[in-house]
Amino acid sequence: MQISDRLSSIKPSLTLSVNSRALELKAQGVAVISLAVGEPDFPTPAHVCEAAKAAIDDNFCRYTAVPGIPELRKAAGAYFDRAYGVPVPQESIVIGAGGKHCLYNFFQATINPGDEVLIPAPYWLSYPDMVMLAGGVPVIVHAGPEQSFKVTPDMLETAVTDKTRLLILNTPSNPTGAVYTEAEFTALMDWAIQRGIFVLSDEIYDQLVFAPARMTSAIGWFARYPEQVAVLNGMSKSYAMTGWRVGFLAAHPQLIKKISAMQGHSTSNICSIAQKAALAALTGPTECIDHMRDAFARRRDLGMKIVETWPWAVCPKPDGAFYLFVDVHKCYGGAVKNSTELCTWLLDKAHVALVPGAAFGDDNCIRFSYAVADDVLVRALEATGAEMARLA
Ligand code: PLP
Repeated sequence: MQISDRLSSIKPSLTLSVNSRALELKAQGVAVISLAVGEPDFPTPAHVCEAAKAAIDDNFCRYTAVPGIPELRKAAGAYFDRAYGVPVPQESIVIGAGGKHCLYNFFQATINPGDEVLIPAPYWLSYPDMVMLAGGVPVIVHAGPEQSFKVTPDMLETAVTDKTRLLILNTPSNPTGAVYTEAEFTALMDWAIQRGIFVLSDEIYDQLVFAPARMTSAIGWFARYPEQVAVLNGMSKSYAMTGWRVGFLAAHPQLIKKISAMQGHSTSNICSIAQKAALAALTGPTECIDHMRDAFARRRDLGMKIVETWPWAVCPKPDGAFYLFVDVHKCYGGAVKNSTELCTWLLDKAHVALVPGAAFGDDNCIRFSYAVADDVLVRALEATGAEMARLA
C-alpha cells in the first residue's frame, strides 16, 4: 500500500473511540448527551443566511480571487480596526476554508524540516499534527491548573533551542477557556519578539471573552512587527458559522502572497456563497454575538457552580470560549486509569460524551463543552459528577 512517510507520525483522533462508542449507544436507543462538541449551539444569524440566499439568487457562484473577494478581505481587515483599533490592509489578509485551513497553510508556508515550534499545553489538538505535517517538530510546554493552564516566558525559555522558529499562542484557549491578561500576553509577545521567534496567535474565540476579563490581541504587535507575527481569526465560533468554513489570517503581505499561491494549487478560493455570508456577518449587526456571549457566560457560571462541589476536581474558572477543562486525575487508579478510559466510563454509565484531556496534551483532565442548553448542561454535569464520585 502506497502511504507517504509524511503521514507516519500523524495520529488518529483520540476522540474517535469515545465517538464510536457514543454512536453504538445511540443505535441501541440510549439518549446520549454530548458535551463533546466544539461549536456554538445557536443558529447562524438570519441576516447572514439571507446574504447567502441572495448570493445564490444573484448567481454569485463562480470562482473568485484565490485569497478571497476584495470586499471580504477588506471587511476582515476592518474587523481588527473595530475590535482593537488596528486597521489591517487587505493585502495582509487571506481568506481560507475555516481557521483550520488558514493554520494548515500558514504552517506549510513558514516551517522548514526540523524547525521547532513551541506549543503551550493544553493545546488545541490539531496544532502538533499540523506542525508535523509541515515537517516541524512540536515542542510542548505544559502548564497545569495551578497556573490556570497559562505558560510564562520563563517556561518557554527552558524549551528554546537554536532550532526554535515559532510559538503558537491561543487566547481564549480551546480546551481550557483560559484568557491571558494584558500583562501576561505582553510578557509572552515581548519575549518572543526579542528572541526573534515568530508568533502565530490563534484568536478564533476572541469575541467570546467574559467580563471583567478582556481580550488582548496580537494584532498590535503585528502592526509593529509584521515579519514576526500572524493572527488567526474566523467566523466559526463568534458567528455560529462552523459549517460555512470561513477563516482569515492577518500576516505580512509577502507571506499572504505565498499562502495564496499555495492555496491556488489546492483549494483555490473558498465557497463564493460562504464569502458573501461572511461579509454580511463582518459588516452587519453584532447583537447576535452579545447574545451568544451572555448565554455562554451564564452557562460557565452554572457549570462552575456544580464542578466546584466536586471535591476530587480542580477547574480554574475559564474567562472565555465555551469549555470547562477539569482536572479529575483523582478518579484514576481503580476502574479507570486515564482520561480516555474515564470518558468511555462516563459515556457508558452516565450517557454523557466528553473529550479526554489526552487529546489536548493533558491526561489529568477531561473537557466539557457548555455549548448546550442550560438544563442539558446541568443534567449532564450532575450525571457525570455522580459517577465520578464513585471512582474518586
Ligand atoms: N483554533 C481553535 C483553537 C479551535 O478550537 C478551532 C476549532 O475548533 C479552530 C482553530 C478552527 O476552527 P474553524 O476551522 O472551524 O474555523
